[in-house]
Amino acid sequence: MNAEVRQLTTSNGQWTVTLANGQVLSADYVCLASGGYPKASMFAWLQNLGHQFAEPVPSLFTFNLPRHPVTALMGVSVEKARVKIEGSKLVEEGPVLITHWGLSGPAILRLSAWGARELSVKGYQFKAHVSWLPDFNEQSLKENFQEWRRLHPAKKVLNQNPGLPARLWQFLLEAAGVKEDLRFADLPAKAENALIRNLVDYVVEVSGKTTFKEEFVTAGGIQLSEVDANTLMSKKQPNLFFAGEVLDVDGITGGFNFQHAWTSGWIAQGLHVTDRI
Ligand SMILES: Cc1cc2nc3c(=O)[nH]c(=O)nc-3n(C[C@H](O)[C@H](O)[C@H](O)COP(=O)(O)OP(=O)(O)OC[C@H]3O[C@@H](n4cnc5c(N)ncnc54)[C@H](O)[C@@H]3O)c2cc1C
Repeated sequence: MNAEVRQLTTSNGQWTVTLANGQVLSADYVCLASGGYPKASMFAWLQNLGHQFAEPVPSLFTFNLPRHPVTALMGVSVEKARVKIEGSKLVEEGPVLITHWGLSGPAILRLSAWGARELSVKGYQFKAHVSWLPDFNEQSLKENFQEWRRLHPAKKVLNQNPGLPARLWQFLLEAAGVKEDLRFADLPAKAENALIRNLVDYVVEVSGKTTFKEEFVTAGGIQLSEVDANTLMSKKQPNLFFAGEVLDVDGITGGFNFQHAWTSGWIAQGLHVTDRI
């Protein structure tokens, strides 16, 4: 029909669906699959249904690091990094991509999904601690440096890349004040400590996220406690069903949001429920 629904009302077990073009439809069952709404005000046309809506907040976004020097490494990705949000329990390990605006990649997107509400409360202003070598900690890396210094005193530090993309390794060396031609024997303890910290606890100030349009999913929507999980029928309005992102369900990356939309659509359309066939 390709038409906007303006209103849903029910009376004596019958649903009335009013379209924007003025057309009025009558239905025994209604399935609401309007997707996620990014603003609470967009749920206004559903207010009369008596449902509670979990405040919508964006999910699956990337972190902005305005004017941060690391963004010069745009396009560099690290297969396994650990990112922790300061002052929270949010921590994720996985691929991280450096972009021209900040940090992206699966580990960041997962953090944004698990932390959708918490990061929204922080106004998307927080510190993130990145370990580019999550299999090491400060102590184990220090032991490695001691070993390298002992075994290869004449070797340039630059040539002892611990497995990072070359541009990132050079960047972290420079940030720690380690010159390109510096040899292990001449590496000052202060610079070594700074380099080790950069490798396992690189702190960035996140300020903002990618804009709404680039986001994939909205967390929030119809509260799940008001919906029968077996049929996805409203507990408030008989014969009103919900499917997809309009429900307060959001998933991490990996197709889980599509899967939820399809599966909930299949459940809501009720072909598995004999009295609706
Ligand atoms: C750019 C982008 C990329 C994505 N990539 C992925 C991915 O790779 N993997 C993944 O799992 N998920 C992904 N998602 C998320 C996924 O697309 C959604 O979770 C999924 O499409 C939700 O399905 P839905 O049917 O609930 O809602 P939608 O697909 O949003 O469909 C809802 C439809 O209802 C219409 N509608 C809304 N209100 C009304 C109204 N009042 N009257 C009539 N029609 C109305 C809307 O216009 C829309 O056409 C992506 C999303 C975006 C935006």
